Amino acid sequence: MPIRVEMGEFREVTREEQLKNGKLIALTFDDGPSEHTAKLLDVLRVKNVPATFFALGSRANAFPELIKREADEGHEVESHTMNHKNLTTLGVEGARAEIAGAEQAICTSRGVGDGCVKFVRPPYGEINNTVRNVVGKPMIGWSIDTEDWKSKNPDEMLLRTITKASDGTVILMHDVYDTSVTGAEKIIDALKNEGYTFVTVEEMVQEKGVSLPAGSYYGRFD
Ligand SMILES: [Zn+2]
Repeated sequence: MPIRVEMGEFREVTREEQLKNGKLIALTFDDGPSEHTAKLLDVLRVKNVPATFFALGSRANAFPELIKREADEGHEVESHTMNHKNLTTLGVEGARAEIAGAEQAICTSRGVGDGCVKFVRPPYGEINNTVRNVVGKPMIGWSIDTEDWKSKNPDEMLLRTITKASDGTVILMHDVYDTSVTGAEKIIDALKNEGYTFVTVEEMVQEKGVSLPAGSYYGRFD
């Protein structure tokens, strides 16, 4: 987006300026990686948009190279647990295994040590006090549910998003459907047109100056 500097002269707005002055929105993808993730990463690269992937540990073990690619291409990779179970039904030991297993799978795939995961998105957004204690990190929900898994219709995903988008919102999608890749493309184009800057969750937290204690749960940052 060029801005006018002086008569007849334009320069590009820096990302720093966009983050400071712009409307921020975070695109997040759950349940992957999958056979559709590479195509999504191609789209994000072409459109120059960073995203946050809440990966499953079991899927990271199946597609470690995609986890590494996500991180290498500037996306944020966080945990959606090992096997996508409802953490509130597992008890302390069961929940702990889901959290620790995912972190190990994700960090190993990235080729970095344990501790590379900053946030957890609990499956179904289901939490209780036991889960808060076991997770021991901030948990991230969402503010716009595209329901991509339900409709498998890119235009519906777009409509659900543009009617609810505002500064500080978090969009939920899943990188396990081909239709979600098309939906993401449409959403990116539409929101860019409306002047939004795409950020990772970590950037959003930082830019909005929110402090997230361990065990807290946030779905929007406006
Ligand atoms: Zn999920």
